[in-house]
Parts: sequence; C-alpha cells; structure tokens
Amino acid sequence: DAYFANAFDAVLLNKKFDKDSIKIRGKLGDGSFGSVSYAEDTDTGRELVVKQAKSVQGAAQLQNAEEYMNRRVRRAPLVASGCAKYLGSYEVVEGASSPTLVWAFEGDVTLEELIVRRDFPECVEELLYGGAQGGDDYAKRTSKVAKSVLRNLLSTLAGLHDIGIVHRDVKPANLVFMGRKFKLVDFGAAADLRTGKNYEPEQGLLDPFYSPPENFIMPERIPAPPPLRPLTASLSPLVWGTFLPDLFDSFSAGLVFLQMCVPQLRGRKVMDPNGSFRRLLEENNYDLRKWRKVVEPQGWDFSALDANLGLGWDLACRLVCKRNFLQRGRLGCNTALLHPFFWTP
Ligand code: ADP
Ligand code: MG
Repeated sequence: DAYFANAFDAVLLNKKFDKDSIKIRGKLGDGSFGSVSYAEDTDTGRELVVKQAKSVQGAAQLQNAEEYMNRRVRRAPLVASGCAKYLGSYEVVEGASSPTLVWAFEGDVTLEELIVRRDFPECVEELLYGGAQGGDDYAKRTSKVAKSVLRNLLSTLAGLHDIGIVHRDVKPANLVFMGRKFKLVDFGAAADLRTGKNYEPEQGLLDPFYSPPENFIMPERIPAPPPLRPLTASLSPLVWGTFLPDLFDSFSAGLVFLQMCVPQLRGRKVMDPNGSFRRLLEENNYDLRKWRKVVEPQGWDFSALDANLGLGWDLACRLVCKRNFLQRGRLGCNTALLHPFFWTP
C-alpha cells in the first residue's frame, strides 16, 4: 500500500516541469514570503499558476511545507476536488532551496473581488446558477448564495481536517471560482497535525484578519510556543481532542459567511484586527448577539441572516464565537454541516 502510494506520488504528483517551457505572463499575488504568477506551459499550451518563494528568511521552508500539503491533498481525491489542482513543480536554478510550485489555472475571480461588488449577490448567482434566482427578495437570495458557498467551504474544510490538515488562512481572497464552485487555494499557512509539519511556523505568519481570537498574534502580545511540538506526531489524537485546531478554520469560515450576509461587512479591510468591527467584537467578548445589539440600531442589515427562520443567524453565532478549552463552544466544520440551516431551501 505504501509502495503504491509512493509510486503514485512520484509518477503523478511530482511532475517535474521543464523550466524552459514555462513562460510567466503576469502577477496574481505578492505575499511577504512568495509571489504567485499566471503562466503558460508553452509545450502544452496549458494555463498555469506558479508560486515562487522569495529570498527572505523562512520562505524556502514555508514553500517546502506548502508543497508537502499540496501533495497530501492530491492523494485524497474528495478533498482535492475542493482545492486548486496541484500539478507539480520545477526548479528555477539547479539545487534551489525550494521548488517553484505549479497549479492549473482554472479561474480568475476570487470571492473577495465578488463580495465588494455592487451587484453582490447577483454576480455570484450568475456564476453558480447561470442567472439570478429566487425572484427579487434580497434577503432570501443572499441567504441562498451564502449558504451554497458556506456549505461548499465547510465540506472542503471538513475533508481536510479528516486527513489531519488545518488550513489556517481561510478568507475570501483564498477562494477562487473555478468551473462550478469556489475552490480553496494557498496552503502556505497550513499545518499537518499527524506529523507536526508547519504546526509552529515562523512567528507572525498567520494572517490575523480572519484568525480566531485564541490565535491572535499581535505585536504587543508575543505568543508562547505551543507546548506539544516534539510530541505532535505521536500525540496527534490528543492534539485534535484537546486543542481542537480545526476550530481555527471554522471560525474563519464563519467570518466569511457573515461577510456575505451583512452588507456593512463587505469590504476588503473590515476584518483588520485593529479595525472597528474586530475591536467591537472583542469588546463584546466575541458574542455575536451582543455585538448585534450595538450595530443593528445603527442601521446594519441582518435580513439575510434572519431569512430561513433565523437559522443562518443561529449558525453564524455558533461559528463566530469564543471557544472553550475542552467543551468547544464553537462548531467544527463537520458538525456545522449538520446545522438545520442547511436543511432549508
Ligand atoms: P499568497 O500567499 O500570495 O496569498 P495564494 O496562493 O493565495 O498566494 O495566491 C495568490 C492569488 O493568486 C490568489 O488570491 C488567487 O487570486 C490567485 N490564485 C492562486 N492559485 C490559483 C489557481 N490555482 N487558479 C487561479 N488563481 C489562483
Ligand atoms: Mg492567499
């Protein structure tokens, strides 16, 4: 079995691209550790996305971790179908400290770009169903679109968690519309809890915008190192059972859901930990019900969450909240998918 998995991995998942046939056509993203470009394989005419590590401290290590995560994901077909299609790698110079990673380019619009458009949710209805749906009841239509995106996202995350991977960078900019649905990209911050890989990355790597409060990494609060590092591999079930790291992703998914449903939250920078939304949330101890009492009188629109008997609102409150150490208090992705909100049309 292991032999087959390795052979399969080597043949199918470790395709070495010929660096001379790959032509970079334009920039898609520019993070602090890597840059992402749109490219073409001139041998096959295939459109690609390539990610190259920058020459900064720690970048090569993260790039190697990202390659590892992508290869693991490709081996789990059901999970892989919810993520960008990873194709392989190549080395720009021989003996490079990390490879350049290659994915199929399958779509060019992210949920982030769609959320800020004036015609949201129509623009997403157009992509998902090929046209406007459900008459002209704004609340019902928004709820339907948000439900579909959230269900899809939670399923992908639940699958990832099942194979031991936490993404830790779930946000609209990492959801790319490809073919028929939004797929998850960017495993640069992901951790594999079965092996401990990338569990404890460079400090400050995790993007604080969509992070849950327990993982807030702020300059003035230096986080203590996680206690289990050398034991992570052997104690993996304990890590899941005690630290419930999957709740990181379900919180972020909850924020994405809130953003789709509440028009006042549909901006690019609203989730800034120093912005008014996250600050007010913190002041209210991450209790959405309390927070709502403050902003609703100011005219904030909760109609999309109140549609469907308020089930969307109930789910939002169970995702975007504090977690307790042992009794959760926040739904994981698998459990969230069982919420009655998803039973409604
Ligand atoms: P970064 O670390 O810079 O955030 P990402 O992997 O998120 O890198 O890629 C940056 C951007 O490139 C994404 O936000 C998305 O717009 C685009 N992108 C990444 N992968 C793909 C892909 N497979 N297909 C289409 N676009 C992609
Ligand atoms: Mg990204």
